[in-house]
This record gives sequence, C-alpha cells and structure tokens, in this order.
Amino acid sequence: MYKPKYLTRLKQIPQLSEEEREHLNEVTERFAFRSNEYYNSLINWDDPEDPIRRIVIPEMQELEEWGELDASCESHYKKVPGLEHKYDHIALLLVNDVCGAYCRFCFRKRLFMNGNDETTRDVSPGIEYIRNHPKINNVLLTGGDPLLLSTKKLENVIRQLREIKHVRIIRIGSKLPVFNPWRIINDPELAEMLGKYSYSDHKIYVMNHFNHPRELTRESRKAVSMLQEAGVITVNQTPLIAGVNDDANVLAELFNELSYSGIAPYYVFICRPTLGNYSYAVPVEEAYEIFEQARMHCSGLAKRARMAMSHFTGKIEIVGLTDSHIFMRYHRAANPEQKGRFMIYERNPEAYWFDDYRNQVDDTCWNDDLRMATSF
Ligand code: SF4
Repeated sequence: MYKPKYLTRLKQIPQLSEEEREHLNEVTERFAFRSNEYYNSLINWDDPEDPIRRIVIPEMQELEEWGELDASCESHYKKVPGLEHKYDHIALLLVNDVCGAYCRFCFRKRLFMNGNDETTRDVSPGIEYIRNHPKINNVLLTGGDPLLLSTKKLENVIRQLREIKHVRIIRIGSKLPVFNPWRIINDPELAEMLGKYSYSDHKIYVMNHFNHPRELTRESRKAVSMLQEAGVITVNQTPLIAGVNDDANVLAELFNELSYSGIAPYYVFICRPTLGNYSYAVPVEEAYEIFEQARMHCSGLAKRARMAMSHFTGKIEIVGLTDSHIFMRYHRAANPEQKGRFMIYERNPEAYWFDDYRNQVDDTCWNDDLRMATSF
C-alpha cells in the first residue's frame, strides 16, 4: 500500500540547490513548511515558475512585510475553544492544526505557528455551544484539515453533531484529496463512515481546495469518487493566486475539469491580505476580470462559483464592474442589518481588499462597519 512520506524540512527536497535551501530556511523559520512525496511529484522542477511549486515551495517574497496574520479577524468570532460563530446559521469547529501540506498563501498560517490556541482536539465545549444554539443548522469542520484525524476520532465528532437535530448540514473543509489522496484511497472506512452520516435530508459536504487543474490527477479523482459514491456531496473553493490560477484559460480549465468530476465550483476567493502574501495576491478588479473571462469558456455547470472576499464584516461578493465603478453585495453579513446590502464604489485598480474601497468613505472604524453598511 503506497503511503507518501511527509516532508517538513527543505533538506528533504533534493531538487532544491544547497544555496536555495539556505536562503529559504529563513522563510521556513517564520512560516512553517510541509509537503509530501506525492504532491512534490506533481511539480515540474525544470520550471521555476511552476504553479504547483508556487503552491507549496517557500519563496523569499514571503518575507516582505504586508498584511496581517489574521486578516479577517477570525479570532474575533471565537465563542468557546475551537469554535467560531459569525453568521446565525453557521458554526465553525476548528478540529485540527495541521494540513496535508501547507499552501504558502494560507490565510490561516497563524494556526501552524507555536502558541496557537484557536484549534482544539477537545470538541466538547464547541458541541455544547452548538447544542445550545438552535439556529445553527450548518457546521463546518475545518482547521487545519479534519481528514487528517483518524477515522475513529472524526466519527466521534460527526456522531455527536448528528445527535443534534437542528444541525442539518455538516461540511468538511479539506485539501487532503489534493495533497494526499492516499489518505482516502487507503482507508475505505473513512468514505464509508462519512456516507453513514450523510442522510438524504442531512447531507455531508466535502469542500475541496483544488487550486489548479494539474492537481486533478487520477488519484485525486479516485479519492473524490470514493467520497461521492459513499453519498457525500463534493464542491470546490479556491483563492485566486498570482502565478497559480490568475489566468482565464487555467481557471476555465479548472472549473471545467471539476465539473467533469462532479465537483461543483463553489467559491473563488480574493487572496486575503495575510502576512507574507503580497506576491500571491491579485488586485480585486484584475481578479474579477480573470474570473469573468474564465466563466465565458465554461458550461453552466462549470460556472457556478461566486467570487467573494471573506472580510471581517462578512462574505462580500463581487458582482460587476463598469469603466468607472465596482459593484459588491454582502452575500453573508455578521451584522444581520447588512444582509444582502448592495454597494457601489469608484474603481480602484490598486485595491487588494474591501478596505481599499471602504476608505473612499469616512467610516474607518470597525465598530461602525458592524453597525451600518458602507454603501452609497
Ligand atoms: S489547505 Fe487551506 S488551511 Fe490548509 S494550508 Fe492550504 S489554505 Fe491553509
């Protein structure tokens, strides 16, 4: 049974020169590195700009000072250890602080640093909180990657959630089918267990993170198929990342290939202004134009994704551009008064985040944002 070896030190990567490793050690001292033999085998090492390499191999530009460790202030919504509650109906349980590999542009890289106390292996306070909040009908297991937990531990969490009648949807955010499909292929009990708790009116969803069409290998498609055959619904979300998928043809290919495998494209996110992410980020308007061009080459099934920013105040969808203005809408809002709020701003080609538009108006206070919409 093949099991890819995990790689956590640069000296385990013979394709990097001694000099490269020495330089990049400075980066990995700050932001953790992790990959594995399977994922590294997808890299074209002859191409220094290879998109798969960009996803997982550190780069010196990560040391440029830009962004915040918790760019969307996720920790602000922590209610009990390991649980975030931002929107009425949705709770996040952060059940793990490790991923199959680490995306260099990760928006939660803070969780992989020493001293992180946002995740928990003891889900009891989170489960209790969900039990006491009957409005919560949708729970996202995230982290880190929940599919890295043993099948037994994961079942223990899912079983407890299934005992709460108001929880209808359980979502699992995972890049394991991409980073290490062998986790699913080698352990058929995992898919079987998920299928057991995915009822006709209480489904389990796996939210995949395919970023590039080359990640859709024979093995990753097999892993996803096993989940689907067990009765799990599969969708995909990806950030738009410079040098990875900031090309309309690449993005269209990703959407189309996902649809051929029954994985619905769900969200394309603007790269959060997370510390160290400057070289991975694409300005909002450029990203939206790439997204719209990509959609022109897709069937209806392949172009179901929305483009959004996961902002402190809510999930803000970008819905259109004219020569002079950009149009956005609160797809989800932390403040119920802002739900569905439509916003129009003057175009700003330099904008990387909602705040770069918000600053056009005089409402720079977070509290104001939570109290009233920033539209005009
Ligand atoms: S899969 Fe998600 S949480 Fe894990 S490293 Fe990548 S972006 Fe971060």
